[in-house]
Amino acid sequence: ISLSDPIEEHRICVCVRKRPLNKQEINKKECDVITVPSKCVLLVHEPKQKVDLTKYLETQTFRFDFSFDECASNEMVYRFTARPLVQTIFEGGKATCFAYGQTGSGKTHTMGGDFSGRAQNASKGIYAFASQDVFFLLSQPRYRSQDLEVYVTFFEIYNGKVFDLLNKKAKLRVLEDGKQQVQVVGLQEKQVSCAEDVIRMIEMGSACRTSGQTFANASSSRSHACFQIILRQRGKLVGKFSLVDLAGNERGADTSSADRQTRMEGAEINKSLLALKECIRALGQNKSHTPFRESKLTQVLRDSFIGTNSRTCMIAMISPGMNSCEYTLNTLRYADSGCRE
Ligand code: ADP
Ligand code: MG
Repeated sequence: ISLSDPIEEHRICVCVRKRPLNKQEINKKECDVITVPSKCVLLVHEPKQKVDLTKYLETQTFRFDFSFDECASNEMVYRFTARPLVQTIFEGGKATCFAYGQTGSGKTHTMGGDFSGRAQNASKGIYAFASQDVFFLLSQPRYRSQDLEVYVTFFEIYNGKVFDLLNKKAKLRVLEDGKQQVQVVGLQEKQVSCAEDVIRMIEMGSACRTSGQTFANASSSRSHACFQIILRQRGKLVGKFSLVDLAGNERGADTSSADRQTRMEGAEINKSLLALKECIRALGQNKSHTPFRESKLTQVLRDSFIGTNSRTCMIAMISPGMNSCEYTLNTLRYADSGCRE
């Protein structure tokens, strides 16, 4: 098995994944407004009305490195998005993979998988698949003798503050030294020695992330979760893979809410998603200036946006239903025009 690129070498890969209609949407007889006619193209058929009230569909076309329709499995999505980046961390580089989209569009399903159904029907996500491949590469003769160790971290950024999901949501400080090195003070790095170890960490962190939340006020939709796979050689950092499950992008629009807390959270999310877009663009254009200080998210991920051996993948998640059309278009525009030149 080779972990090399199925596509040409480039630093930024932008993909889209459409989830299937869910039970509620089917019960409400909601139409699916998305089609994926080929592996790179995605169409949105937006229902519109003329002044004389006749209805029509306006089709908009988007092109990505890959477009996944509702039949694609997590493994399939992984194979064409994060997998080509795994090798990077063995070559002294930084890799990042972002899941972007509206709440309910499938970000956590894709990244974290679903372990709530317990062992048998548990489905793996990108965190688990990437870890599996890291251990696979480690077992290869090329790397076996190199004294490499694997660690994971799992943290959440909520309203500009960092919380450790592998340590009872301990609140952490972010410090930047004179050389612009950013450090999350006290972040737990747990050593792992097999894929099963990693799954336990994912379960632990995911449970911590959602504990004490009511559905209506789920802070998981307002927080970014970051799972990192860190490779060290005798203590020294070799490479790092950051896998980020972003806050729901519709939350960025909460800036006019009557509730002050919600408004502030919305503004923070908006700021961080805009900063992220700028940082990814800067990376793609090899710009010397990366505006990483604009938000906690980009500050914490600073070292992933610089260096000649940094690669990024953005997966835009979309809901297929007609009622999500406006947010879907926002998501597609962000990914399509925003993250590229
Ligand atoms: P988000 O994290 O973007 O808010 P979730 O990942 O929690 O969204 O997904 C919302 C619901 O839809 C979950 O119940 C999840 O299991 C389901 N879901 C998401 N994507 C898919 C998919 N590709 N196939 C089947 N179910 C999915
Ligand atoms: Mg989620």
